[in-house]
Amino acid sequence: MAKKRNAAPHRSGFCAIIGRPNVGKSTLLNRVLGEKLSIVSPKPQTTRNRVLGVLTRPDLQVAFLDTPGIHRARGGLNRFMVDQALGALPEVDCVLYLIEPGLVRDAAAPSGVRVEIGEVNQFIVEKLRDAGKPVILGINKIDTLPRHELLPVIEAWKDALPFAAIFPLSALKGEGVEALVDLIGEQLPEGPALFPEDVFTDVAERFLVSEFVREQILRSTRQEVPYSTAVVVESFDEAEREREGRGLVRIFSRIYVERDSQKAIIIGKRGEMLKKIGTASRLEIERLLGCKVFLSLEVTVEPRWSEREDALRRLGYSS
Ligand code: GDP
Ligand code: MG
Repeated sequence: MAKKRNAAPHRSGFCAIIGRPNVGKSTLLNRVLGEKLSIVSPKPQTTRNRVLGVLTRPDLQVAFLDTPGIHRARGGLNRFMVDQALGALPEVDCVLYLIEPGLVRDAAAPSGVRVEIGEVNQFIVEKLRDAGKPVILGINKIDTLPRHELLPVIEAWKDALPFAAIFPLSALKGEGVEALVDLIGEQLPEGPALFPEDVFTDVAERFLVSEFVREQILRSTRQEVPYSTAVVVESFDEAEREREGRGLVRIFSRIYVERDSQKAIIIGKRGEMLKKIGTASRLEIERLLGCKVFLSLEVTVEPRWSEREDALRRLGYSS
């Protein structure tokens, strides 16, 4: 078969959406993915986990990581959330850094407005600079300001980082969203689709379940177990739930770590840590599924699981 010439190559990869709470990350992801997200995340406004949403177009597949909002690191949970949010960076091909215009009325300023970047954004900028990934700055909520006030915002931000692009949009109104996806696509490597097209309906609940378990592991073990920990839901038996309307869902889940020492940490003394992780995860999963859950966890040491393709295959994503 003759190869088509001049056709744009298919691209695929991972894009993290990063930004302060409330800037519109979930709204944007919702807009980009349409109704699919509501299947993935039943509680989009309370995103605490990294939720993966996959956009599939004929020319492009983008796997988005919706990160929790970044607060200034202070104390346990915040520290955890910052790490969780930025922990995605090494794995992604590009970053969409979403901000609000941050305009403050100021009679003393020549244009009548001043742009506030703020401490948290400064913190994010530093982290992004260290990460060395291409960053698209998305200036969201432009529907809330007159066009001429956009210029001072761009001015204030343009030298903060060597951005791959600065892009104004309104996630709420859908303005600029498609062009933004094109821009993200340009940052991704050439390659085939990584996920089957109907990935959502198949893996939504399973994926969230594995994310819940993963979060509890990270939370319970603090820094001792690295982000490379993988959780795979090996069986998800809904037979009883379907038969009785609201019975029990039986879930068997395997936790992959890379070293024996990590396995020991996760299991803990007399299995106490694993029990704690299991109970906390089960409660979250029960809330998600709206029924009782029987959750079984097992820990397996598997060096180098985290190599990308291998991991994807194991997670059941490979087509
Ligand atoms: P997240 O915390 O970054 O995920 O932010 P959300 O997506 O939950 O949005 C926070 C609030 O900002 C919600 O009330 C959204 O409706 C609102 N919002 C998001 N995008 C826009 C936008 O483009 N324009 C306006 N006016 N509001 C927006
Ligand atoms: Mg959100």
